[in-house]
Amino acid sequence: MEQEIIMKIENIVSKERVFLDLSERYSYSYDASFGQYLPDVVVQPNNVKEISELVKLANEYRIPVYPRGAGTSLSGGPLPVKGGMVLDLSQMNHKLIIDKENMLAIVSPGVITGMIHKKAEEVGLFYPPDPSSSNVATIGGNLLENSSGPKGLKYGTTKEYVIGLEVVTPTGDIIRTGGKTVKNVTGYDLTRLIVGSEGTLGIVTEAILRLIPKPIARKTLLAHFDKLVDSGHAITNILSSGILPSAIELMDNACIRAVENFRPSGLPIHAEALLIIEVDGHPSAIAEEIKKCESLCKQVGASLVTVATNEEEREKIWYARKMVSPAITQMGPTKISEDATVPRSQIPAMMERLNQIREKYELNLVVFGHAGDGNLHPNIITDKRNLEEMKRVEDAVSEIFTTAVELGGTLSGEHGIGTLKSAYMEMELGEAGVLMMKKIKEAWDPHDILNPGKIFPIPGQTKVVLT
Ligand SMILES: Cc1cc2nc3c(=O)[nH]c(=O)nc-3n(C[C@H](O)[C@H](O)[C@H](O)COP(=O)(O)OP(=O)(O)OC[C@H]3O[C@@H](n4cnc5c(N)ncnc54)[C@H](O)[C@@H]3O)c2cc1C
Repeated sequence: MEQEIIMKIENIVSKERVFLDLSERYSYSYDASFGQYLPDVVVQPNNVKEISELVKLANEYRIPVYPRGAGTSLSGGPLPVKGGMVLDLSQMNHKLIIDKENMLAIVSPGVITGMIHKKAEEVGLFYPPDPSSSNVATIGGNLLENSSGPKGLKYGTTKEYVIGLEVVTPTGDIIRTGGKTVKNVTGYDLTRLIVGSEGTLGIVTEAILRLIPKPIARKTLLAHFDKLVDSGHAITNILSSGILPSAIELMDNACIRAVENFRPSGLPIHAEALLIIEVDGHPSAIAEEIKKCESLCKQVGASLVTVATNEEEREKIWYARKMVSPAITQMGPTKISEDATVPRSQIPAMMERLNQIREKYELNLVVFGHAGDGNLHPNIITDKRNLEEMKRVEDAVSEIFTTAVELGGTLSGEHGIGTLKSAYMEMELGEAGVLMMKKIKEAWDPHDILNPGKIFPIPGQTKVVLT
């Protein structure tokens, strides 16, 4: 990057928050997905004015700008694929206000989501979106990916809890969308447009989040299934019985074995699937509900159902699920993590197809995820140095996407499109659908400054390229 531009950046942000050394830039060259790209400069702004000036400078010199939170994206969202400037927003974390009276949280983008959970719960309130990464990921990243987690089944995704934003637009203007009122129909709903836009339409510098009363009690069960397809039927039967659990999480046999190898805790290694089901609400209501869930699991063939009788037993049940990510990373150096999502009624069919894909491509494919909302996480554990295997991975990933769309689902339930799924956008949205999104991007970002190289397919690319 030219010295003249560096000097201008250092006039906006103090020198100690501008990083040019290779070793420093290297730390920003990857995320939790695949691929590595070196930025020319990394800047840590700490207020909206600095960000606005940096973006204006970027427009003047046509420098790509890549906003970044904690870098835990599983789709390549913050990767600086065209070099340029990474804006590290993780240090912009000074504001976390809980407004108990209005049941709101007002937060800076770099605040860790887990801190919002903690502060809200201290005053009897609840911020439901709970990605598994919430102890490290920033609320900014959650907003721009529209993240969710196990509780998405009952409580929905991040977008349901955002009512106002402060945003620096791709041309450097500072705008506010929405506000502190729960109802607001003034003009277009730009809040919803920005949330989930993967850092391509604006840089979020503050958010107003809606909180709800904390549920007073919860009950959890663990069900073992000898047949994977039975666990799928258990899910659809529970959801059509009038019960809405706060979570239904699935682990398949490969996943059970991985966890048991990693941290032996007595999991049934011959079971084809485990379901963790949690209900929350009034104690008398959930006592009935968990009983009904237990009997519905047994009706479709669960070989064992255990209901936690205290917090310690509940923690033990969730421990297995929490160990999935660390356990599968031990299985191989490269993890390709997908989140193709299908309508609930298609969960058994999707599971069946994933089994076929595993056998057809002879890959180490493990499946877990938020099965209650159809959001499965097929993960392929591989080694990117094995080029022959990577070709099979590319084909398997393509088939996973095609299958999800054929079953009426979507490429991504929560991880976003980023660089890894852009080739498949037209398959789900059609040419006209993608074109309409491109027109929105062009209207907001005429010089294609903000997070270029994301979401939209590269002309001619028809499938993911991992080699
Ligand atoms: C072990 C593990 C478990 C995970 N579990 C889940 C899960 O259960 N559910 C789920 O949804 N995701 C999950 N993820 C994915 C990831 O954690 C989420 O996408 C998360 O929201 C990313 O937050 P981040 O702070 O790391 O953002 P980053 O990865 O740094 O960035 C994500 C995107 O947001 C943009 N961005 C970040 N901050 C801003 C900002 N202030 N303004 C504009 N753009 C911005 C970036 O450009 C990028 O496009 C998991 C990841 C890992 C590694």
